[in-house]
This record gives sequence, structure tokens and C-alpha cells, in this order.
Amino acid sequence: MEIKQFFKTPSVAEISKYKNHREISENLIENLLNINPDEAIIIRKDLIPSKYPNAKKFKKHGIEIIIPRYESLEQAVKIKKTPVQLRERVFNKIKNKAYRGYSFKPFTGTDKRTRNVFLDDCLEGAKICAYTKQDIKFKPLINVKVYDDAGRVQKDGAEAIIKVPSRIKNQSNYEFKFSSIPVIDSPEKWGISYNIMTTHNCKDKLFNIRYNYLHDKENSRQFNFCAHEIAAYLAIIDYYWNNKKNIIPLQMNQFAIPTQYAVNFYNILCRNTLIQTSKDKNPRKLNKVEKEILLWGLVHKKGHDKTFFARDKIKNYDWGFKKAVL
Ligand SMILES: [Zn+2]
Repeated sequence: MEIKQFFKTPSVAEISKYKNHREISENLIENLLNINPDEAIIIRKDLIPSKYPNAKKFKKHGIEIIIPRYESLEQAVKIKKTPVQLRERVFNKIKNKAYRGYSFKPFTGTDKRTRNVFLDDCLEGAKICAYTKQDIKFKPLINVKVYDDAGRVQKDGAEAIIKVPSRIKNQSNYEFKFSSIPVIDSPEKWGISYNIMTTHNCKDKLFNIRYNYLHDKENSRQFNFCAHEIAAYLAIIDYYWNNKKNIIPLQMNQFAIPTQYAVNFYNILCRNTLIQTSKDKNPRKLNKVEKEILLWGLVHKKGHDKTFFARDKIKNYDWGFKKAVL
């Protein structure tokens, strides 16, 4: 299994060879933002709270950011706050703590499983979108085929069959169905956007399903989105805007879209940062959960709009190293 060039990040050995090294154990976010391109940062701190035995347990049971819950469509229509307005409100109130992700919950329809979203996957989803912009021999593509002319679309949303490229070399695309896509400017859109789900499976998601059914009744009622699904929804937004001048999928988008500033920070985590916790003999790269915790740290320091309110086209982001400007 070899990762495609665009998604490769330096190994521990490569980062260890950087010209300058700095060890940090406090003011992590500010220190990471003040890095030089040729500098390696080694975090000497346990990022995952000690009451969780490992990263997986924290990902399942750690503290999550709760997007306000609605009880009925009438209530949602009356309040009229788009998902990004709700995210702005809660993201700007978070504490200086370790968070595992954010969640929203459907209040209409039959599948009322809590939907979990991880900032790390929002970044990886945006990166998959940027990958399709690469000028390489076989131009990668996120393929979107929508089904939105049935009479039920106003009530249940549209469906789409999506093909998303894999980040692994020589691995075929992921093909799956995305349902409950809000595309009509009707009162129902306020509920439809909370019901989004897909038929997608990948290694990340398989683990969650098996684990939940075996070990945890409460968590089996959860639906975790992965980077492929987020990339798919971003492509759906593009499809509706470019082909139909329809902004509803963007207006009702449930995924936090990173800014270039957040991408720069994420690049620092992936390309310049190692960690050595009390459990590690040697410095290693950050795992997904540790990156998640640091991304929430960035949101806490810099606020929602600077980090996850994208005003520019994410496809045009620069994913190379660039020093994040304070
Ligand atoms: Zn996936």
C-alpha cells in the first residue's frame, strides 16, 4: 500500500533531519504557528487526557462539540439558523480542552443516528478535493451524478452517486450513494440537511461499525463521516453551484470547510511536527486524534471564521508548506 505522491507527508526520519529542532510542552498552538519551514517541532506532552487509555477510546468517548439540537421542523424553520451560523456560535464558545469532534442530530425522518464529524476529516476531505485540481497525467476527478427530479426531493432531498479517488496508489475509486442532499429552497431544507447519509464504507468506517455493534449500544446509534464523504459533499456543492446556480447545498452544508489558514496549520502538523508522550520511547508522528485535538486548539485560539469559514475556493488552496501568518 503506497500513498499517492500528493498525500505523502515526511517520515519521522525525514523530519528528524530538518535543520533546526525545537521541543515544546506549552503554548502549543502559538509555538506551532511560529515555526520556520526548515524547523522540526517535537511536542513533549500527552495530548489525550489520561482518563482515556488510548486514542480510539478518546475518539469514541471524549468530549464532543454539540451543534444545537432541534426538536421539530417547525422549531428549525422558526429559528432559521444555517448550519454554519450554528457552528460559528458553538465553535466560538469552546474551552481550552481536548475535543474529539462535533456532532449534529437529525430531527425529521427515520434515521435519527447522531452524525459525528471530525475536523481532521474536514481537512483531509478538502485535500482530496484539491487533489482533483492537480495537473497530472491521469486527471483525477470526483464524479457526481445526481438524482433530483423525483417528486420526493422536496421532502427527502436529492440523491447522488459519487466516485471519490483513493489516496492509495493503484486502488480503485470509492463509489457510493449520498442521500438527503438539500437542493430545494423549501421549509423542509432545514430538516433534510440533518439527515444526510451515505452507503460508503472504507477502513476507517468499518472499524467504527464493528466496534460499535460489539461494544457499545449507545455508539451504534452514531454515524461517523469520513474524509471521502466530506470530499463527496464538497463536490456536490460545486456541482450544484456550477451547473445549476443552486446554492442550497452550500447554504445547508453540515461540514466545517477549512480556510487556507487552517490548511497551513494542518500542514505544519503533518510535515513539521513530532510528538513524544509519556508512553513513547521515541518521537513519532501525530496520530489522527492528536491532530484533531490540536485543530480544536487552533479554533479555540483563533475563532471560527479564521479557521473554518472558507471564503475562497478550496480547490485552489496551496497544500505546500507555507508559514502560517499570525
Ligand atoms: Zn471513507
